[in-house]
Amino acid sequence: METLGANSAAEQTQNRDDSDVPRQDFGALQHGCDHYRRRCKLKAPCCDQIFTCRHCHNEATTTLSNPRDRHEIVRHEVKQVVCAICNTEQQVSNLCSNCGVKFGEYFCSICKFYDDDISKKQFHCNDCGICRVGGRENFFHCPKCGSCYSVSLRNNHKCVENSMKNHCPICYEFLFDSTKQTTIMKCGHTMHVECYNEMFNQNQYRCPICSKSVFNMSNSWERLDQEIAATAMPEEYRYEVENLCNDCNHTSKTFFHIFGHKCQHCNSYNTRVITSGETGNHSST
Ligand SMILES: [Zn+2]
Ligand SMILES: [Zn+2]
Ligand SMILES: [Zn+2]
Ligand SMILES: [Zn+2]
Ligand SMILES: [Zn+2]
Ligand SMILES: [Zn+2]
Ligand SMILES: [Zn+2]
Ligand SMILES: [Zn+2]
Repeated sequence: METLGANSAAEQTQNRDDSDVPRQDFGALQHGCDHYRRRCKLKAPCCDQIFTCRHCHNEATTTLSNPRDRHEIVRHEVKQVVCAICNTEQQVSNLCSNCGVKFGEYFCSICKFYDDDISKKQFHCNDCGICRVGGRENFFHCPKCGSCYSVSLRNNHKCVENSMKNHCPICYEFLFDSTKQTTIMKCGHTMHVECYNEMFNQNQYRCPICSKSVFNMSNSWERLDQEIAATAMPEEYRYEVENLCNDCNHTSKTFFHIFGHKCQHCNSYNTRVITSGETGNHSST
């Protein structure tokens, strides 16, 4: 048992003299890991080892040298916790059965999730089946997308079934239970906010999944109209090309131009040349 030899330390802890602090609040915010402030550790049901949180577990076990040992914890299956103050192993609850300390200011008995830092405004979404941060009042659960979104997206996003049950197309982290903020593009696909911004920094404005424009680009398209009107192509390049539009999926013909090719259906320049009119029907992409 992990509790051996720990009792004397616990007794010392209990004999502290700042008795004005209620026992439950002892050590609040002073224990935990890089990920969470909490006053207990989890006994992983998968490997019977003790970790402060599921991220600590997963970081340790996904880097194991033997690929067959690599695994992730199933948070809902955690049954035992170990008090960070008195080291007593016990069943999941929010109060230490031995020393009476509270394991976390926020506690979810479904996720076996503890956090002393409640400024993150944790809440449990029954439909997602996991705890989220950011305040229940700021989120709604979209049943079609199968995830919680910011209330600003209510009736204001394109639903893609299980959109969040995917990996970020940039960094490949699973989005649904990612601790990083996610965003939803015009096409309904999702990715991390920081990966989205990184994509912009590289002047990439297409969804990496479906190639549609990630937001309304009509201002950029109008600017391109003007630039193209002002820059005539040399005589030998004046021929028509056929384009497939990534935004509306229609094909249309327009004159070749190095700045881009406009879809004649929706005015988008987010197009691909599929045939070149001058040299016959060879594919150019
Ligand atoms: Zn951790
Ligand atoms: Zn305890
Ligand atoms: Zn929960
Ligand atoms: Zn939800
Ligand atoms: Zn939706
Ligand atoms: Zn990402
Ligand atoms: Zn997309
Ligand atoms: Zn189009």
